[in-house]
Amino acid sequence: MDTDLKPCPCCGAPAELNEWGYVICPECGLSSAIKETVEESIAAWNRRAE
Ligand SMILES: [Zn+2]
Repeated sequence: MDTDLKPCPCCGAPAELNEWGYVICPECGLSSAIKETVEESIAAWNRRAE
């Protein structure tokens, strides 16, 4: 599974995949939308980070 996460677009901190399957920034609390799959959550986060 591709879990290559881009840094937070808000503060630049490394993002984390949490236990509910979405991406969140531990520094500022920014999170991805909750998607049906982990892959979609990661893709959504990475799009936002670009
Ligand atoms: Zn952040």
